[in-house]
Amino acid sequence: MSIKTNKNINIVNKLNNIISENLDVYFQPQYSLKTNEMFGAEALIRLKNNDSKTFQPKKIIQSAEKFNLIEKISEIVLDNSCKTIKQTCIKVSVNISATQIIDENLIEIIQKYIKKYSIDPSLLTLEITETEFISNFKKAKKNIDKIKSLGVMIALDDFGIKYSSLAYISKLQFDYIKIDRSFLNGKKNKTIVISVIEMAKKLNLITVAEGVETLNQMKFLENNGCQVIQGYYYSKPLPYEEYLRFINSK
Ligand code: C2E
Ligand code: CA
Ligand code: CA
Repeated sequence: MSIKTNKNINIVNKLNNIISENLDVYFQPQYSLKTNEMFGAEALIRLKNNDSKTFQPKKIIQSAEKFNLIEKISEIVLDNSCKTIKQTCIKVSVNISATQIIDENLIEIIQKYIKKYSIDPSLLTLEITETEFISNFKKAKKNIDKIKSLGVMIALDDFGIKYSSLAYISKLQFDYIKIDRSFLNGKKNKTIVISVIEMAKKLNLITVAEGVETLNQMKFLENNGCQVIQGYYYSKPLPYEEYLRFINSK
């Protein structure tokens, strides 16, 4: 047991160090098919000075959740994102993990950064996935309602890949639905995408298609009324300075 405890202490120390010293926030631009201009961006964590394709944000997030360090990551991402919103006046979406969407501290943290940079809260979006609220729906709903009352937007991320209970869409106040990239290929999947876009339109939700890599995929989405695309076709996630250059080139 003591070997295990020592091992865990080592992991926590290493992770703490990575988060404090080496975490960077990249921004992936999103494109509006309605207005034919940039729509906003999603904030995604990366490691500083590390172009390695082996870095998996999901693994860091999972470990941070396990060792109670997720709040630290969210604070860094929210601080960077709200600062970027202040400097660019362009929307930024931030991913919120499972443990945090049911954490009462989340509201205070969000308020802190909106106030710190005195930004328009509607330029900030929080992205959550179904797995995150399904285990504790009541607590998640309470938090989501509070976040909405601050004027912040909510996106349902990775729609379609897990349970996709339609009941949640009517019970929670979402503004955006993000369609997972696994639906962009294959005839049957395309039929599903068309139906999701139709449903979202009727519910006044904006659809964002993720992982758009080709002109064909973009055209298909445009022809079927999808409002926003995100993916390598428009831009990969960019470090802050490159992101600013990207905006200025538009
Ligand atoms: P996600 O929220 O679904 O983020 C979209 C993922 O798709 C990102 O992976 C992005 O780099 C990738 N992507 C974007 N365009 C394309 C494309 O055209 N093709 C392909 N193949 N992939 C594309 P990434 O950066 O590896 O992040 C993985 C996941 O890690 C995210 O999935 C999100 O769940 C989590 N994550 C990343 N940053 C954060 C964070 O700050 N907080 C939390 N809680 N989770 C985060
Ligand atoms: Ca996301
Ligand atoms: Ca996603």
